[in-house]
Amino acid sequence: MGLLTIGAFARAAGLTPKALRLYGRVGVLAPAAVDSESGYRLYDPRQVPLARLVAQLRRIGMPLAQIRAVCELEPAAAAQAVTAYWRQVSVDTAARARLAGLLVDHLSEGSATVSRTNRTVAVRYAAGCDTGAVRDSNEDVAYASERLLAVADGVRGPGGAAASAAAVDALTALELADGPAVDLLTMLAGAVTDADRVVRELATDDHQPATTLTALLRSGTHLALVHVGDTRAYLLRDGELSLLTQDHTWVQTQVDQGRLDRDEAGAHPQRAVLVRALGGGQQVEADLALRAALPGDRYLLCSDGLWAVVDRVALFSTLSAAADPEHAVRALVHDARAAGAPDNIACVVADVVAV
Ligand code: MG
Repeated sequence: MGLLTIGAFARAAGLTPKALRLYGRVGVLAPAAVDSESGYRLYDPRQVPLARLVAQLRRIGMPLAQIRAVCELEPAAAAQAVTAYWRQVSVDTAARARLAGLLVDHLSEGSATVSRTNRTVAVRYAAGCDTGAVRDSNEDVAYASERLLAVADGVRGPGGAAASAAAVDALTALELADGPAVDLLTMLAGAVTDADRVVRELATDDHQPATTLTALLRSGTHLALVHVGDTRAYLLRDGELSLLTQDHTWVQTQVDQGRLDRDEAGAHPQRAVLVRALGGGQQVEADLALRAALPGDRYLLCSDGLWAVVDRVALFSTLSAAADPEHAVRALVHDARAAGAPDNIACVVADVVAV
């Protein structure tokens, strides 16, 4: 059998000549020969299976550069590459779906809170970090500014302190950026992906550092919350203390499934095992939320060095009693120390005030 014209080959492969010209140009599927007289492209019939594969990969949305790489692989490796591609598409789609959901929530709640949020607010803040009474090193970070509040708890051992510092550093870059509240979430999601990569790069042959991260980034009267791991965010509003985050711990998954109750989880020897952390394995998935900053709100961000030893009732009374964020941070660290302070303590308190 001789060579086929582009039209005949396109019919045989189920592609258009236009698509074939594009694939030739980007090096995905080159013609077998070009007629030196007429300039016509000619294809070998044995190229049909490859052309069909390219068409199928295009149908699942794979970019041409990736298709070129897949076409050079043996079938087993190609199958793996397609699986990896599809996993990535699913992760990206889930992340976009989450952002879209948050955007919808934000847009629909807008009218309800507009009377209280429709003014300028400022934030008064304080941050404190304490090694505690038992550990001889500190892997926690507490950070606070007008725009950003953050705590991170790095794993014990080499690289833990660098991991928590890198996680907070990735967010401080966003303090200078400004834009609509919804952009905050997109920026935060991007910063967390960057931080995850930086933390993974801290790995040595036998050790992978990891860290939690819980942070609030403010833009005007909006606060974007990002959370991974078992550091926590609480809100004291109208005389009630609520927990805004969910611990990404193994014991919490057991509580959610009804296998452990709250007290058993708190006393479990594996209560600190994280199921999500920066540097923790597969691409990290952070919880994201958008909140309205209302005058009178008091936020608390802290590591498990505080919340695991000071119960909710005590947190509430110390937070409610403190005159300002500095006193609150000092009193909370004092409470943790009074409870034995077996772990590092990171603590940020911030008040939203009308200006
Ligand atoms: Mg800790």
